[in-house]
Amino acid sequence: MNVEDIKIVGIVGAGVMGNGIAQVFARNGYEVILVDISEKILEKALENIKTGPYGLKKLVEKGKMSEEEMENCMKRIKTSTSYESLKNVDFLIEAVPENLDLKRRIFAELDRICKKDTIFASNTSGIMISSIATAVERKERFIGMHWFNPAQVMRLIEVVRGALTSEETFQITMEISKKLGKIPIPANDAPGFFTTRFINSWLMEAIRLYEANVAGIKEIDEMCKLAFGFPMGPFELMDLIGLDTVLHIAEYMFEETKEAHYAPPVTLKKLVLSGYLGDKRLKFGSKGGWYDFFQIKR
Ligand code: NAD
Repeated sequence: MNVEDIKIVGIVGAGVMGNGIAQVFARNGYEVILVDISEKILEKALENIKTGPYGLKKLVEKGKMSEEEMENCMKRIKTSTSYESLKNVDFLIEAVPENLDLKRRIFAELDRICKKDTIFASNTSGIMISSIATAVERKERFIGMHWFNPAQVMRLIEVVRGALTSEETFQITMEISKKLGKIPIPANDAPGFFTTRFINSWLMEAIRLYEANVAGIKEIDEMCKLAFGFPMGPFELMDLIGLDTVLHIAEYMFEETKEAHYAPPVTLKKLVLSGYLGDKRLKFGSKGGWYDFFQIKR
C-alpha cells in the first residue's frame, strides 16, 4: 500500500479538531466520512466547515476559492452517526475526547468493522499511542497523527509511532500530511509526546501564577504576547483548545508522570465543572471561556 491508494478518509469525532481535519482533507480532494454521536453535532460541524471562523466561506471571500469549489468540497464530506459507514475507508483519524477508555472502545469496534488494511490514526494530544493500540489487532497499522488547532491553519503534524507501528504506516502518514500541505515531524511515544508535554507545563504555570495573584488573566495574556511574541496568550490558547481537553490532558500527564508541574490547578477544574469549556464559536455546548467566566472585557 502507498499514499496514492488512500482516497476515502474516515474521521470519528466532529468537534473542535474533527471538523477542521475533515475540511483539510476535503479541500485536498479526498472523500471524507465524518462520524459523531448525534445529527445535531454533525450539522453544527458542517456549518462550521462552511461558515466558521476558519471555514471555506472565508476563502471564497478572500478570492482563494470559488463558490463552485466550495460547494464541491462540501459535497465530498458525508456525515453519519454509524461506525458501519466507515467500513470502506482507507485511512481513519479518531478525534474524540481525550479519554483512553473511550478511544480504546471505539478502536476495538472499528477494528472489526473497517477493512483489514485501513490505517488507524489517533489525534490524541498526549495519550501514549502504544496504549491506545492495545485495543486493536492491527497494531502495525496504528499511529499517532497529532494535528494542531486550528487544523485548517496550523502546519505542524506531530507523527508518533507506537511500539509496533510499521515503517509503511509511518511513511504513508508522513506522505499524506505533506500532500495536505502540512509539515510532519516525528516524535517518540511518551505521555504528551513533545508538544503537549511542553505546552502543558506553560499553561498550568500561567493558571498557577494567576491563582497566586502575580497578575490578572488579561494581563498575563498581554504580557506573553508583548514580551515573548506569542500569537496569543495562554488563557486565549486554552479557550481555543477547549478547557475540558486542557483538563483531561493535565490530569493524564500528572497521572503518568507524577510531576507536580503538570497537575491541573483548581480554577481550571471549576470552570469545566461549571460548563465553561472554551470558545463558544468552536466548542459545542460551551458557556464560554476564561474571559466569560470572570467577565473580563477583551
Ligand atoms: P471536542 O470535545 O471538541 O470533540 C470531540 C467530539 O467527539 C465531540 O463532537 C463528541 O460528540 C464526539 N464523540 C464523543 N464520543 C464519541 C463516540 N463514541 N463516537 C463518535 N464521536 C464521539 O474535542 P477536540 O478538541 O476536537 O479533541 C479531540 C481529540 O483531539 C482529543 O483527543 C484531543 O486531545 C485532541 N486534540 C485537541 C486539540 C485542541 O486544540 N482542541 C488539538 C490537538 C489534539
